Amino acid sequence: MPIAAERPARESAGPKLPSPVMTAPVPVIAIDGLTKSYGKVRALDGVSLSLEPGRFTALLGPNGAGKSTLFQILTGLFVADSGSVRVLGADLAADPTAALARLGIVFQQPSLDLDLTVEQNLAYHAGLHGIGGRRRRDAIEEALALFGQSETRRQRVRTLSGGNRRKIEMARALMSAPALLLLDEPTQGLDPASRRDLVLHVSRLVRERDLGVLWATHIVSEVEAADRVVVLHRGRVIEDGAPADVVARSGASTLEGAFLALTQGRAA
Ligand code: ADP
Ligand code: MG
Repeated sequence: MPIAAERPARESAGPKLPSPVMTAPVPVIAIDGLTKSYGKVRALDGVSLSLEPGRFTALLGPNGAGKSTLFQILTGLFVADSGSVRVLGADLAADPTAALARLGIVFQQPSLDLDLTVEQNLAYHAGLHGIGGRRRRDAIEEALALFGQSETRRQRVRTLSGGNRRKIEMARALMSAPALLLLDEPTQGLDPASRRDLVLHVSRLVRERDLGVLWATHIVSEVEAADRVVVLHRGRVIEDGAPADVVARSGASTLEGAFLALTQGRAA
């Protein structure tokens, strides 16, 4: 008798264990085979990536790796040449409204209106997402509290420090309760203490709210405590794993060394 025919009888004899497929968490995003070229420049070359809720994933790549291009595609600003993106099962191409509704984004270029107050900036965003009336006040208050920014509510953005401006952008991105927060070099131009502060705030939200985070950067030191590191180089994912595993596989002794070995062909 063929082995395959025996299998059902054997399985039904013992206690039924949950299958690993059934217990795997549903990905917040499933990216499959994305490619994107600008003329002759191939910015993304077959990027596949699946992210889980409640995990802080670093997208580590040198300048020009394709990080911003990936984010522009994920947020529907650009269309990929090929490949697909699903956000909580919703296909970005077929059902962009459903897919984009569950994404929050902080772009590489700061995008607050400097002459408006913090509250005015957030109120405008709330309106775009259909949050109105009393709910809007509450949503603004709650978002600011997440980043310890309640006191800045009536201040013009221009008067805030760079780090606090970034916190306001992150708070704004969370107002629509996204399942996945995309952050494109959110610490650019900030001093090390402000960078660390932002990482700590976001890490806490990942744990407390089961939020998925994809944090793009080329600064290795700020993502050493990430749950997972995905290295993007010349439009390709060339390494993916827990920081300790990435270091061990590279033969280097630090994540910085692993990153240099992977992207510049030298160990440190
Ligand atoms: P990163 O964000 O990792 O620095 P980008 O996605 O900005 O990388 O860029 C990836 C590659 O695509 C680079 O070679 C860059 O010069 C090129 N590129 C990015 N945006 C454009 C664009 N709008 N037009 C032409 N080339 C672009
Ligand atoms: Mg970029």
